[in-house]
This record gives sequence, structure tokens and C-alpha cells, in this order.
Amino acid sequence: MSAEGQEQTAARLAQMPKQYRPTYERAMTGKSRKAAMHAFCAECCGYQIQEVYLCTDLGCPLYPYRPKSRVSPVASQSVREHVESTKAGQRVSQ
Ligand code: SF4
Repeated sequence: MSAEGQEQTAARLAQMPKQYRPTYERAMTGKSRKAAMHAFCAECCGYQIQEVYLCTDLGCPLYPYRPKSRVSPVASQSVREHVESTKAGQRVSQ
């Protein structure tokens, strides 16, 4: 990676919560598309993972790939119920 790339990556890392850094670093190796998608969704939602689970932007090209199979241990009960209903193919009104 170029010096400019390293600088931008370091700046981005410094701006994100620590728990999201390993996924971002894995994404930036260029060896994990899954990590890249998860890192992008996390960034898109301001690192509020429950917002990724509740994403309603069906037109986003990452929507079918957003992380939704794992529920954060800090997710609220309503988020857990939403994720479970999504897995079951149901829609939950908000
Ligand atoms: S799928 Fe949703 S959370 Fe992920 S990047 Fe698209 S709009 Fe953001």
C-alpha cells in the first residue's frame, strides 16, 4: 500500500470504535469481501450495528450482503426480535 493509502487507513482507523477495527483491517488486506461489506455497513450506520440490522435501504447494492445473521450481544430485545423475524422471512413494521 502506498504511503498515502497507509495515511488514510490510519486516519480512518483512528475515527472508528475499537471493536470495528479488526474487521476493517481484514477488509483492507484485500482478501475478504465479507469483511469489506461488514466494515462498509458499520461505517454507513455510524458504527451503530443495530442500525445495520434494521437497514431499510432495499436499493443499496450491499443490502443482500449486510451482516444480519449475527446479533450483537448488546442488541436490544426489539432488535433481536427484528433479526429473528427477518431470518424467518417476515417483515416487522416499525
Ligand atoms: S446495506 Fe444498509 S447499512 Fe449496508 S451500506 Fe447499504 S444502506 Fe448502509
